[in-house]
Amino acid sequence: DPEFSSMILYYYHKAAQVMEPTLLKEMDQHTHFKPEEKQARVSAILNLIGSVCTSLEVSFPIIKANGTYEIITGYRAHHVRNRLPLKGGIRFAMDVDEAEVKALASIMTFKCACVNLPYGGSKGGVRIDPSKYTAKELQTITRRYTMELLKRNMIGPAIDVPAPDVNTGPREMSWIVDQYTKTFGYKDINAAAIVTGKPVHVGGINGRNSATGRGVWKSGDLFLQDKEWMDMIGFETGWKDKKVIVQGFGNVGSFAAQFVHDAGAKVIGIQEVDFSLTNADGIDINDIMEFKGEKETIKGYPKAKETKESLLTAECDILMPCATQKVITSENAKDIKAKLILEGANGPTTPAGEKILLDKGVLIVPDMYCNAGGVTVSYFEYLKNINHVTYGKMTAKTTSQLIHEVMNSINQSLKETEGCKIPEIVPNRGLQKIRDCTTEAEIVDAA
Ligand code: GLU
Repeated sequence: DPEFSSMILYYYHKAAQVMEPTLLKEMDQHTHFKPEEKQARVSAILNLIGSVCTSLEVSFPIIKANGTYEIITGYRAHHVRNRLPLKGGIRFAMDVDEAEVKALASIMTFKCACVNLPYGGSKGGVRIDPSKYTAKELQTITRRYTMELLKRNMIGPAIDVPAPDVNTGPREMSWIVDQYTKTFGYKDINAAAIVTGKPVHVGGINGRNSATGRGVWKSGDLFLQDKEWMDMIGFETGWKDKKVIVQGFGNVGSFAAQFVHDAGAKVIGIQEVDFSLTNADGIDINDIMEFKGEKETIKGYPKAKETKESLLTAECDILMPCATQKVITSENAKDIKAKLILEGANGPTTPAGEKILLDKGVLIVPDMYCNAGGVTVSYFEYLKNINHVTYGKMTAKTTSQLIHEVMNSINQSLKETEGCKIPEIVPNRGLQKIRDCTTEAEIVDAA
Protein backbone atom coordinates (compact mmCIF):
# COMPACT_ATOMS: atom_id res chain seq x y z
CA ASP A 1 0.00 0.00 0.00
CA PRO A 2 2.45 2.68 -1.07
CA GLU A 3 1.61 6.36 -0.98
CA PHE A 4 -0.88 7.39 -3.66
CA SER A 5 1.63 8.80 -6.17
CA SER A 6 3.85 5.68 -5.99
CA MET A 7 0.76 3.56 -6.38
CA ILE A 8 -0.15 5.33 -9.63
CA LEU A 9 3.45 5.01 -10.82
CA TYR A 10 3.27 1.27 -10.12
CA TYR A 11 0.14 0.91 -12.25
CA TYR A 12 1.83 3.01 -14.94
CA HIS A 13 4.87 0.69 -14.98
CA LYS A 14 2.56 -2.28 -15.27
CA ALA A 15 0.96 -0.73 -18.36
CA ALA A 16 4.33 0.39 -19.74
CA GLN A 17 5.49 -3.22 -19.77
CA VAL A 18 2.57 -4.07 -22.03
CA MET A 19 3.09 -0.99 -24.22
CA GLU A 20 6.83 -1.26 -24.76
CA PRO A 21 6.87 -4.08 -27.38
CA THR A 22 4.02 -2.42 -29.32
CA LEU A 23 5.81 0.92 -29.39
CA LEU A 24 9.05 -0.77 -30.48
CA LYS A 25 7.19 -2.44 -33.31
CA GLU A 26 5.77 0.91 -34.42
CA MET A 27 9.31 2.29 -34.52
CA ASP A 28 10.05 -0.25 -37.29
CA GLN A 29 8.37 2.16 -39.72
CA HIS A 30 11.31 4.50 -39.15
CA THR A 31 13.82 2.44 -41.06
CA HIS A 32 16.55 5.05 -40.65
CA PHE A 33 16.73 4.52 -36.86
CA LYS A 34 19.34 2.13 -35.52
CA PRO A 35 17.93 -0.49 -33.06
CA GLU A 36 19.42 1.31 -30.04
CA GLU A 37 17.86 4.59 -31.23
CA LYS A 38 14.45 2.93 -31.41
CA GLN A 39 14.80 1.64 -27.86
CA ALA A 40 15.95 5.07 -26.66
CA ARG A 41 12.95 6.79 -28.23
CA VAL A 42 10.49 4.29 -26.84
CA SER A 43 12.02 4.64 -23.37
CA ALA A 44 11.81 8.42 -23.72
CA ILE A 45 8.11 8.28 -24.61
CA LEU A 46 7.36 5.96 -21.72
CA ASN A 47 9.40 8.09 -19.32
CA LEU A 48 7.52 11.20 -20.36
CA ILE A 49 4.20 9.52 -19.65
CA GLY A 50 5.57 8.39 -16.30
CA SER A 51 6.27 11.93 -15.11
CA VAL A 52 4.22 15.08 -14.55
CA CYS A 53 5.27 18.08 -16.63
CA THR A 54 3.94 21.04 -14.62
CA SER A 55 2.72 21.57 -11.14
CA LEU A 56 1.68 24.80 -9.45
CA GLU A 57 1.05 25.65 -5.80
CA VAL A 58 -0.62 28.95 -4.93
CA SER A 59 -1.47 30.62 -1.63
CA PHE A 60 -3.76 33.59 -1.23
CA PRO A 61 -5.58 35.35 1.61
CA ILE A 62 -9.33 35.63 2.04
CA ILE A 63 -11.33 37.64 4.54
CA LYS A 64 -13.85 35.44 6.30
CA ALA A 65 -17.40 36.45 7.26
CA ASN A 66 -16.25 37.07 10.87
CA GLY A 67 -13.57 39.53 9.71
CA THR A 68 -10.56 37.24 10.22
CA TYR A 69 -8.01 36.52 7.49
CA GLU A 70 -7.08 33.07 6.31
CA ILE A 71 -4.41 31.86 3.89
CA ILE A 72 -5.77 29.32 1.44
CA THR A 73 -3.57 26.92 -0.55
CA GLY A 74 -4.47 25.50 -3.95
CA TYR A 75 -2.81 23.34 -6.61
CA ARG A 76 -3.05 22.50 -10.29
CA ALA A 77 -0.98 19.86 -12.13
CA HIS A 78 -0.62 19.21 -15.85
CA HIS A 79 0.43 15.67 -16.65
CA VAL A 80 1.61 15.69 -20.28
CA ARG A 81 0.92 18.57 -22.62
CA ASN A 82 1.20 16.50 -25.82
CA ARG A 83 -2.57 16.54 -26.16
CA LEU A 84 -4.25 19.90 -25.61
CA PRO A 85 -6.41 20.98 -23.99
CA LEU A 86 -5.86 19.15 -20.76
CA LYS A 87 -8.84 17.99 -18.74
CA GLY A 88 -9.38 17.27 -15.09
CA GLY A 89 -11.49 18.25 -12.11
CA ILE A 90 -10.98 20.57 -9.16
CA ARG A 91 -11.56 19.14 -5.68
CA PHE A 92 -12.04 20.84 -2.35
CA ALA A 93 -10.73 18.60 0.44
CA MET A 94 -8.30 18.58 3.35
CA ASP A 95 -6.03 15.88 1.90
CA VAL A 96 -5.33 17.83 -1.30
CA ASP A 97 -1.60 18.37 -1.82
CA GLU A 98 0.90 18.55 -4.66
CA ALA A 99 1.59 14.81 -4.80
CA GLU A 100 -2.13 14.00 -4.84
CA VAL A 101 -3.07 16.32 -7.71
CA LYS A 102 -0.04 15.17 -9.73
CA ALA A 103 -1.07 11.53 -9.38
CA LEU A 104 -4.70 12.37 -10.18
CA ALA A 105 -3.57 14.35 -13.24
CA SER A 106 -1.82 11.26 -14.63
CA ILE A 107 -4.93 9.16 -14.06
CA MET A 108 -6.84 11.71 -16.18
CA THR A 109 -4.46 11.18 -19.14
CA PHE A 110 -4.86 7.42 -18.89
CA LYS A 111 -8.64 7.71 -18.48
CA CYS A 112 -9.07 9.98 -21.52
CA ALA A 113 -6.88 7.65 -23.58
CA CYS A 114 -8.88 4.65 -22.38
CA VAL A 115 -12.17 6.09 -23.68
CA ASN A 116 -10.59 7.75 -26.72
CA LEU A 117 -11.03 11.40 -25.77
CA PRO A 118 -8.48 13.78 -27.30
CA TYR A 119 -7.37 15.30 -24.00
CA GLY A 120 -4.26 15.27 -21.87
CA GLY A 121 -4.73 14.92 -18.11
CA SER A 122 -4.72 17.52 -15.36
CA LYS A 123 -6.12 17.97 -11.87
CA GLY A 124 -6.46 20.68 -9.29
CA GLY A 125 -7.61 21.20 -5.78
CA VAL A 126 -7.90 23.55 -2.85
CA ARG A 127 -6.95 22.33 0.61
CA ILE A 128 -10.09 23.23 2.56
CA ASP A 129 -12.92 21.47 4.32
CA PRO A 130 -15.80 23.11 2.40
CA SER A 131 -18.27 22.40 5.20
CA LYS A 132 -16.41 24.96 7.35
CA TYR A 133 -17.09 27.88 4.96
CA THR A 134 -20.16 29.86 4.01
CA ALA A 135 -21.31 29.84 0.37
CA LYS A 136 -20.02 33.40 0.04
CA GLU A 137 -16.58 32.43 1.36
CA LEU A 138 -16.48 29.45 -1.00
CA GLN A 139 -17.30 31.78 -3.87
CA THR A 140 -14.41 34.10 -2.89
CA ILE A 141 -12.03 31.12 -2.67
CA THR A 142 -13.13 29.74 -6.05
CA ARG A 143 -12.83 33.08 -7.82
CA ARG A 144 -9.44 33.87 -6.30
CA TYR A 145 -8.10 30.37 -7.10
CA THR A 146 -9.33 30.85 -10.69
CA MET A 147 -7.43 34.15 -10.97
CA GLU A 148 -4.24 32.54 -9.65
CA LEU A 149 -4.46 29.85 -12.35
CA LEU A 150 -5.36 32.34 -15.08
CA LYS A 151 -2.47 34.67 -14.24
CA ARG A 152 -0.09 31.77 -14.82
CA ASN A 153 -1.73 30.50 -18.00
CA MET A 154 -2.57 27.25 -16.23
CA ILE A 155 -6.20 27.14 -17.43
CA GLY A 156 -7.99 28.29 -20.59
CA PRO A 157 -10.33 26.82 -23.21
CA ALA A 158 -7.33 25.78 -25.32
CA ILE A 159 -4.97 25.01 -22.41
CA ASP A 160 -6.61 23.18 -19.55
CA VAL A 161 -10.35 22.87 -18.90
CA PRO A 162 -11.36 22.08 -15.29
CA ALA A 163 -14.54 20.29 -14.20
CA PRO A 164 -16.20 19.23 -10.94
CA ASP A 165 -14.55 16.66 -8.67
CA VAL A 166 -14.79 15.80 -4.96
CA ASN A 167 -16.92 18.48 -3.17
CA THR A 168 -17.33 20.74 -6.22
CA GLY A 169 -20.19 20.88 -8.72
CA PRO A 170 -22.12 23.08 -11.15
CA ARG A 171 -22.18 25.97 -8.64
CA GLU A 172 -18.39 26.21 -8.41
CA MET A 173 -18.11 25.82 -12.20
CA SER A 174 -20.50 28.73 -12.74
CA TRP A 175 -18.34 30.92 -10.46
CA ILE A 176 -15.27 29.99 -12.54
CA VAL A 177 -16.95 30.68 -15.88
CA ASP A 178 -18.25 34.00 -14.54
CA GLN A 179 -14.81 35.00 -13.27
CA TYR A 180 -13.26 34.11 -16.62
CA THR A 181 -15.86 35.83 -18.77
CA LYS A 182 -15.62 38.97 -16.63
CA THR A 183 -11.84 38.97 -16.98
CA PHE A 184 -11.17 37.71 -20.51
CA GLY A 185 -14.53 36.92 -22.04
CA TYR A 186 -14.51 40.09 -24.11
CA LYS A 187 -11.56 38.75 -26.10
CA ASP A 188 -12.31 35.04 -26.05
CA ILE A 189 -15.21 33.86 -28.16
CA ASN A 190 -14.86 30.40 -26.53
CA ALA A 191 -15.14 31.70 -22.98
CA ALA A 192 -17.92 29.25 -22.04
CA ALA A 193 -15.45 26.40 -22.66
CA ILE A 194 -13.23 27.46 -19.73
CA VAL A 195 -14.83 24.70 -17.62
CA THR A 196 -17.26 21.82 -18.08
CA GLY A 197 -19.88 20.58 -15.65
CA LYS A 198 -21.56 24.01 -15.74
CA PRO A 199 -25.25 24.48 -15.01
CA VAL A 200 -27.26 24.05 -18.23
CA HIS A 201 -28.31 27.72 -18.32
CA VAL A 202 -24.67 28.88 -18.41
CA GLY A 203 -23.61 26.62 -21.27
CA GLY A 204 -23.69 23.21 -19.59
CA ILE A 205 -25.22 20.07 -21.02
CA ASN A 206 -28.18 18.02 -19.83
CA GLY A 207 -27.09 14.84 -18.09
CA ARG A 208 -23.54 15.94 -17.11
CA ASN A 209 -24.39 15.93 -13.43
CA SER A 210 -25.45 12.29 -13.41
CA ALA A 211 -22.98 11.20 -16.13
CA THR A 212 -20.25 9.69 -13.92
CA GLY A 213 -22.80 7.66 -11.95
CA ARG A 214 -24.48 6.58 -15.16
CA GLY A 215 -21.11 5.42 -16.51
CA VAL A 216 -20.44 3.42 -13.33
CA TRP A 217 -23.75 1.62 -13.79
CA LYS A 218 -23.26 1.13 -17.54
CA SER A 219 -19.71 -0.20 -17.24
CA GLY A 220 -20.92 -2.73 -14.66
CA ASP A 221 -23.96 -3.54 -16.77
CA LEU A 222 -21.85 -4.56 -19.76
CA PHE A 223 -20.14 -7.18 -17.58
CA LEU A 224 -23.29 -8.23 -15.74
CA GLN A 225 -25.09 -9.00 -19.01
CA ASP A 226 -22.20 -11.16 -20.22
CA LYS A 227 -22.74 -14.80 -19.24
CA GLU A 228 -19.14 -15.86 -19.71
CA TRP A 229 -17.85 -13.24 -17.26
CA MET A 230 -20.65 -13.85 -14.79
CA ASP A 231 -19.94 -17.61 -14.81
CA MET A 232 -16.38 -16.74 -13.84
CA ILE A 233 -17.54 -15.09 -10.61
CA GLY A 234 -20.51 -17.40 -10.04
CA PHE A 235 -23.22 -14.78 -10.72
CA GLU A 236 -26.49 -15.01 -12.59
CA THR A 237 -26.52 -12.39 -15.32
CA GLY A 238 -28.33 -9.07 -14.69
CA TRP A 239 -28.88 -6.77 -11.73
CA LYS A 240 -32.04 -8.28 -10.32
CA ASP A 241 -31.78 -8.62 -6.52
CA LYS A 242 -28.00 -8.23 -6.50
CA LYS A 243 -26.98 -6.80 -3.13
CA VAL A 244 -25.01 -3.60 -3.58
CA ILE A 245 -23.01 -1.44 -1.16
CA VAL A 246 -21.96 2.04 -2.19
CA GLN A 247 -19.24 4.07 -0.51
CA GLY A 248 -19.81 7.81 -0.96
CA PHE A 249 -23.17 9.39 -1.73
CA GLY A 250 -21.94 12.47 -3.54
CA ASN A 251 -22.21 13.23 -7.22
CA VAL A 252 -20.83 9.83 -8.30
CA GLY A 253 -22.18 7.43 -5.67
CA SER A 254 -25.71 8.82 -5.43
CA PHE A 255 -26.41 8.62 -9.16
CA ALA A 256 -24.62 5.26 -9.53
CA ALA A 257 -26.83 3.94 -6.70
CA GLN A 258 -29.91 5.34 -8.39
CA PHE A 259 -29.12 3.70 -11.73
CA VAL A 260 -28.33 0.27 -10.24
CA HIS A 261 -31.46 0.52 -8.06
CA ASP A 262 -33.58 1.34 -11.11
CA ALA A 263 -31.99 -1.64 -12.91
CA GLY A 264 -33.33 -3.99 -10.19
CA ALA A 265 -30.44 -4.24 -7.70
CA LYS A 266 -30.95 -3.86 -3.94
CA VAL A 267 -28.78 -1.15 -2.40
CA ILE A 268 -28.40 -2.57 1.11
CA GLY A 269 -25.80 -0.13 2.40
CA ILE A 270 -24.48 3.38 1.90
CA GLN A 271 -21.26 4.43 3.57
CA GLU A 272 -20.56 8.11 4.11
CA VAL A 273 -17.48 9.78 5.64
CA ASP A 274 -18.56 9.46 9.28
CA PHE A 275 -21.53 7.09 9.30
CA SER A 276 -23.23 4.32 7.32
CA LEU A 277 -26.85 3.47 6.54
CA THR A 278 -28.08 -0.10 6.11
CA ASN A 279 -31.34 -1.79 5.21
CA ALA A 280 -31.31 -5.51 4.38
CA ASP A 281 -34.49 -5.11 2.28
CA GLY A 282 -32.85 -2.42 0.16
CA ILE A 283 -32.88 1.36 0.42
CA ASP A 284 -35.28 3.13 -1.95
CA ILE A 285 -32.74 5.35 -3.70
CA ASN A 286 -35.31 7.66 -5.26
CA ASP A 287 -36.76 8.24 -1.81
CA ILE A 288 -33.39 8.88 -0.13
CA MET A 289 -32.41 11.23 -2.99
CA GLU A 290 -35.53 13.25 -2.28
CA PHE A 291 -34.64 13.31 1.44
CA LYS A 292 -31.10 14.45 0.55
CA GLY A 293 -32.48 17.17 -1.71
CA GLU A 294 -34.38 18.68 1.19
CA LYS A 295 -31.83 18.20 3.98
CA GLU A 296 -28.58 18.32 1.94
CA THR A 297 -27.44 15.19 3.82
CA ILE A 298 -28.65 11.61 4.21
CA LYS A 299 -27.94 11.65 7.96
CA GLY A 300 -31.16 10.99 9.81
CA TYR A 301 -32.84 9.15 6.92
CA PRO A 302 -35.60 7.30 8.78
CA LYS A 303 -35.96 4.19 6.60
CA ALA A 304 -32.45 2.75 7.22
CA LYS A 305 -30.34 1.89 10.26
CA GLU A 306 -27.47 4.25 11.06
CA THR A 307 -24.18 2.70 12.20
CA LYS A 308 -20.59 3.81 12.68
CA GLU A 309 -19.23 0.65 11.02
CA SER A 310 -17.41 0.55 7.70
CA LEU A 311 -19.43 -1.38 5.14
CA LEU A 312 -16.56 -2.18 2.76
CA THR A 313 -16.22 -5.68 4.19
CA ALA A 314 -19.93 -6.29 4.79
CA GLU A 315 -21.85 -9.11 3.04
CA CYS A 316 -22.87 -8.04 -0.50
CA ASP A 317 -22.51 -9.01 -4.17
CA ILE A 318 -21.31 -5.74 -5.65
CA LEU A 319 -19.21 -3.04 -4.03
CA MET A 320 -19.06 0.45 -5.53
CA PRO A 321 -16.28 2.58 -3.95
CA CYS A 322 -17.35 6.04 -5.17
CA ALA A 323 -15.61 8.33 -2.70
CA THR A 324 -11.86 8.66 -2.72
CA GLN A 325 -8.54 6.91 -3.33
CA LYS A 326 -6.85 4.07 -1.40
CA VAL A 327 -9.88 2.67 0.39
CA ILE A 328 -9.29 -0.98 -0.58
CA THR A 329 -5.91 -1.99 0.81
CA SER A 330 -3.98 -5.02 2.11
CA GLU A 331 -5.75 -4.36 5.43
CA ASN A 332 -9.31 -4.96 4.29
CA ALA A 333 -9.13 -6.68 0.85
CA LYS A 334 -9.08 -10.19 2.31
CA ASP A 335 -12.34 -9.53 4.16
CA ILE A 336 -14.20 -8.04 1.20
CA LYS A 337 -17.16 -10.26 0.32
CA ALA A 338 -18.20 -8.63 -2.98
CA LYS A 339 -17.39 -10.56 -6.17
CA LEU A 340 -17.71 -7.53 -8.42
CA ILE A 341 -16.14 -4.14 -7.72
CA LEU A 342 -17.11 -1.04 -9.68
CA GLU A 343 -14.46 1.63 -9.16
CA GLY A 344 -16.47 4.86 -9.23
CA ALA A 345 -13.70 6.77 -7.41
CA ASN A 346 -10.26 7.52 -8.84
CA GLY A 347 -7.65 5.04 -7.57
CA PRO A 348 -9.69 3.35 -4.82
CA THR A 349 -7.63 0.12 -4.81
CA THR A 350 -3.95 -0.17 -3.85
CA PRO A 351 -1.73 -2.66 -5.71
CA ALA A 352 -1.67 -4.94 -2.63
CA GLY A 353 -5.46 -4.71 -2.32
CA GLU A 354 -5.83 -5.46 -6.01
CA LYS A 355 -3.56 -8.51 -5.83
CA ILE A 356 -5.52 -9.99 -2.93
CA LEU A 357 -8.84 -9.41 -4.73
CA LEU A 358 -7.63 -10.86 -8.04
CA ASP A 359 -6.22 -13.92 -6.25
CA LYS A 360 -9.68 -14.40 -4.70
CA GLY A 361 -11.23 -14.26 -8.19
CA VAL A 362 -12.96 -10.90 -7.73
CA LEU A 363 -13.80 -8.99 -10.92
CA ILE A 364 -12.67 -5.35 -10.74
CA VAL A 365 -14.01 -2.89 -13.31
CA PRO A 366 -11.17 -0.34 -13.22
CA ASP A 367 -11.64 3.35 -12.44
CA MET A 368 -10.31 4.74 -15.69
CA TYR A 369 -13.10 2.99 -17.54
CA CYS A 370 -15.71 2.72 -14.81
CA ASN A 371 -15.82 6.43 -13.91
CA ALA A 372 -15.09 7.84 -17.38
CA GLY A 373 -18.75 8.73 -18.04
CA GLY A 374 -18.23 12.19 -16.51
CA VAL A 375 -15.32 13.27 -18.66
CA THR A 376 -16.99 11.70 -21.71
CA VAL A 377 -20.00 13.98 -21.34
CA SER A 378 -17.64 16.87 -20.47
CA TYR A 379 -16.13 16.37 -23.92
CA PHE A 380 -19.52 16.88 -25.55
CA GLU A 381 -20.18 19.93 -23.39
CA TYR A 382 -16.83 21.33 -24.52
CA LEU A 383 -17.64 20.62 -28.19
CA LYS A 384 -21.00 22.32 -27.75
CA ASN A 385 -19.28 25.41 -26.33
CA ILE A 386 -16.48 25.75 -28.87
CA ASN A 387 -18.80 25.07 -31.81
CA HIS A 388 -21.38 27.54 -30.51
CA VAL A 389 -24.23 25.12 -31.08
CA THR A 390 -27.03 23.87 -28.85
CA TYR A 391 -27.30 20.30 -30.22
CA GLY A 392 -30.96 21.10 -30.81
CA LYS A 393 -32.94 20.09 -27.77
CA MET A 394 -30.29 17.81 -26.37
CA THR A 395 -31.85 15.83 -23.57
CA ALA A 396 -30.41 13.67 -20.82
CA LYS A 397 -31.51 10.72 -22.94
CA THR A 398 -29.16 11.54 -25.78
CA THR A 399 -26.37 12.16 -23.28
CA SER A 400 -26.99 8.70 -21.93
CA GLN A 401 -26.78 7.26 -25.45
CA LEU A 402 -23.37 8.87 -25.80
CA ILE A 403 -22.18 7.20 -22.60
CA HIS A 404 -23.59 3.85 -23.70
CA GLU A 405 -21.87 4.09 -27.06
CA VAL A 406 -18.47 4.97 -25.62
CA MET A 407 -18.70 2.39 -22.82
CA ASN A 408 -19.78 -0.30 -25.30
CA SER A 409 -17.00 0.32 -27.76
CA ILE A 410 -14.32 0.21 -25.06
CA ASN A 411 -15.82 -2.74 -23.21
CA GLN A 412 -14.80 -5.34 -25.77
CA SER A 413 -11.13 -4.40 -25.81
CA LEU A 414 -11.15 -4.21 -22.01
CA LYS A 415 -12.43 -7.77 -21.76
CA GLU A 416 -9.63 -8.92 -24.03
CA THR A 417 -6.96 -7.14 -21.98
CA GLU A 418 -4.58 -9.31 -20.09
CA GLY A 419 -5.59 -7.79 -16.79
CA CYS A 420 -5.34 -10.56 -14.25
CA LYS A 421 -1.58 -10.95 -14.06
CA ILE A 422 0.43 -8.80 -11.73
CA PRO A 423 3.92 -8.31 -13.16
CA GLU A 424 6.88 -7.43 -10.97
CA ILE A 425 7.51 -3.72 -10.49
CA VAL A 426 9.99 -2.70 -13.20
CA PRO A 427 13.00 -0.67 -12.11
CA ASN A 428 12.53 3.09 -12.01
CA ARG A 429 13.33 4.43 -15.46
CA GLY A 430 15.33 7.41 -14.31
CA LEU A 431 12.27 9.62 -14.15
CA GLN A 432 13.98 12.43 -12.27
CA LYS A 433 16.69 12.68 -14.91
CA ILE A 434 14.11 12.86 -17.67
CA ARG A 435 12.06 15.48 -15.87
CA ASP A 436 14.89 18.00 -16.03
CA CYS A 437 15.20 17.77 -19.83
CA THR A 438 13.87 20.43 -22.14
CA THR A 439 14.75 19.22 -25.64
CA GLU A 440 13.96 15.97 -27.40
CA ALA A 441 17.68 15.22 -27.83
CA GLU A 442 18.26 15.64 -24.08
CA ILE A 443 15.41 13.28 -23.30
CA VAL A 444 16.81 10.61 -25.58
CA ASP A 445 20.24 11.06 -23.98
CA ALA A 446 18.88 10.78 -20.45
CA ALA A 447 16.88 7.69 -21.35
N1 GLU B 1 -13.44 14.97 -12.11
C1 GLU B 1 -13.94 14.03 -13.07
C2 GLU B 1 -12.98 12.88 -13.26
O1 GLU B 1 -12.17 12.60 -12.40
C3 GLU B 1 -14.36 14.70 -14.38
C4 GLU B 1 -13.28 15.38 -15.15
C5 GLU B 1 -13.78 16.18 -16.34
O2 GLU B 1 -14.94 16.11 -16.69
O3 GLU B 1 -12.94 16.88 -16.89
O4 GLU B 1 -13.04 12.19 -14.21
